[in-house]
Amino acid sequence: MSHSLTDDTDKTFLQQAVQLAMESVEKGGAPFGALVVHNGKVIARAGNRAKQDCDPTAHAEVAAIRMAGKMLGNAHMPQATLYASCEPCPMCLAATHWARIPRMCLPRLRKLQTAPALPTAILQSSSTVRLTPPGPNSWG
Ligand SMILES: [Zn+2]
Repeated sequence: MSHSLTDDTDKTFLQQAVQLAMESVEKGGAPFGALVVHNGKVIARAGNRAKQDCDPTAHAEVAAIRMAGKMLGNAHMPQATLYASCEPCPMCLAATHWARIPRMCLPRLRKLQTAPALPTAILQSSSTVRLTPPGPNSWG
């Protein structure tokens, strides 16, 4: 069964991603947060931990995708949506691609100047990116 996500649902999940980004800053990390929603439920959430873990791959999106894979018992998540606090880097975009996550939702941040303003700005607008998953015979 597929769950259709409304704009309000997207905004709610995006606010959570931004909240994770702000929590990441409070913990000494970089201002990035992400969560994976599967069939309408949050199954993984993470902030950036690259600095604390001395791990350049510990980006919020990658961490959330790893957790989601373990939760689902599957490396592929064709019914999931990734919500991220900002536009993903190439590594996180590739991880989303290999996880076969078909949809990514991001806030529009251009009007923002300070982190505390993020949740308000998210309510104003969001953007959705539809990804083409790799074919069945591709790597990953
Ligand atoms: Zn990244």
